[in-house]
Amino acid sequence: MAYLRCDVAILGAGVNGTSIAYELSKRGKKVLLIDKIVMGAGASGSCDDMILLQSKKPGILLEMAFKSLERFESLKDELPSDIEFETRGGTILIEDEEHLAIMEDFVASQNRYGLEVEIIDRKRLLQLQPLVADDIIASTYSARDSQVNPMLLMKAFLLGARRKGMEFLSRTRAAAVERLQSGWGLLLDSGDRVEAEVLVNAAGAWANDITKLIGFEVPITPRKGQVIVTEAIPPLGATNVWSAQYIVSKLKPQEPAISRPDGRAAVQTPAERFGLGFAFTGTHNGNYLIGSTRENRGFDKSTDPEAIGLLSAQVERFFPVMSKINFIRTFAGLRPSTPDGMPFLGEIPGAPGFFIAAGHEGDGIALSPITGLVMADLITGKKPEFPMKAFDPGRFCGKGGV
Ligand SMILES: Cc1cc2nc3c(=O)[nH]c(=O)nc-3n(C[C@H](O)[C@H](O)[C@H](O)COP(=O)(O)OP(=O)(O)OC[C@H]3O[C@@H](n4cnc5c(N)ncnc54)[C@H](O)[C@@H]3O)c2cc1C
Repeated sequence: MAYLRCDVAILGAGVNGTSIAYELSKRGKKVLLIDKIVMGAGASGSCDDMILLQSKKPGILLEMAFKSLERFESLKDELPSDIEFETRGGTILIEDEEHLAIMEDFVASQNRYGLEVEIIDRKRLLQLQPLVADDIIASTYSARDSQVNPMLLMKAFLLGARRKGMEFLSRTRAAAVERLQSGWGLLLDSGDRVEAEVLVNAAGAWANDITKLIGFEVPITPRKGQVIVTEAIPPLGATNVWSAQYIVSKLKPQEPAISRPDGRAAVQTPAERFGLGFAFTGTHNGNYLIGSTRENRGFDKSTDPEAIGLLSAQVERFFPVMSKINFIRTFAGLRPSTPDGMPFLGEIPGAPGFFIAAGHEGDGIALSPITGLVMADLITGKKPEFPMKAFDPGRFCGKGGV
């Protein structure tokens, strides 16, 4: 049995855990990063690659996304390995007048907040996306939307942190957590023990398993997204692409089917059942990612032929040329979802030195740099540049802490 001591032990090696590990290691903290499987085993290894500003409602998350994008621009040179960061811009395709009206309002609210995004007509859209379907009436365009390779990002954070002395244990799970006179103790399933001044729970959709070890509950649940990967092809257009339907489905919370007068649930369409949206991005290698669904199916990570069929039909509807392109695989990932769409970032009430950074749902890649910075600030006693109230880990409890 080994006995390990560190300043900060972080549970979960996704984009957020690795980003926090990197920022704390840079500040001279002795960090131990622990994952129950391997780096990227959670959502960060089964997701799209977008740093999408346009999808965000005006507010603190959009502000943080601005800052995160700035931080990506410096990280691409600062990190020890390439992260395939690129700013191609993004277009959200608009199919009909109803979506045009919603998107005009949404864009106007974003403009007032300082985001450079506009509605462009079909003629301008064709300059960016010459192969788009004939009946797409307009689109949004923001030159700032960017992308990054999440696996390379985690690898670069990990490498950068290791160079500053961080240690990483994979295939290791915390079996028990105990409060010590100063700091926290972890009993690992390997039998080893860890003593840390500070613990950080960065376990994504599984974060509640860890807080439960100290008798605290956070309402984080998995929201599945299924994605198709195509063979590598030459670029179809200049920008990455979404549909207004995708944004509209994110703006409207998922509601249960409306009851019929006879008391039975109304039948949902297959697209509604799978929470179907459209996100279409080209990777550096030329493979396209076609996503995705938003489903509440517990921790089931299987892909479903019906959902994949819907995604496939949808990409052909927006880009008919895609009927000629081969798919090489499909995957599903579990977004860590919270009831109000905000992550939990901060110290757990009643548990000094026990922090959580989880619940980023569909924005965790985009927000990982800023998550690393604000968590490192909180842990080292520096005031973060953002008000953190909206992210309070105790905001749903009222049940007391530990
Ligand atoms: C289909 C899909 C598409 C997406 N597209 C985008 C996008 O384009 N842009 C964007 O910004 N975001 C996107 N997201 C969201 C993004 O992937 C997540 O928000 C982000 O990856 C969450 O990262 P995380 O580090 O918080 O959690 P995760 O990546 O889930 O990492 C959690 C880690 O904790 C580990 N773990 C769990 N329990 C324990 C334990 N008890 N002890 C130790 N370790 C543990 C897991 O093994 C895992 O490695 C997408 C998600 C999906 C599913």
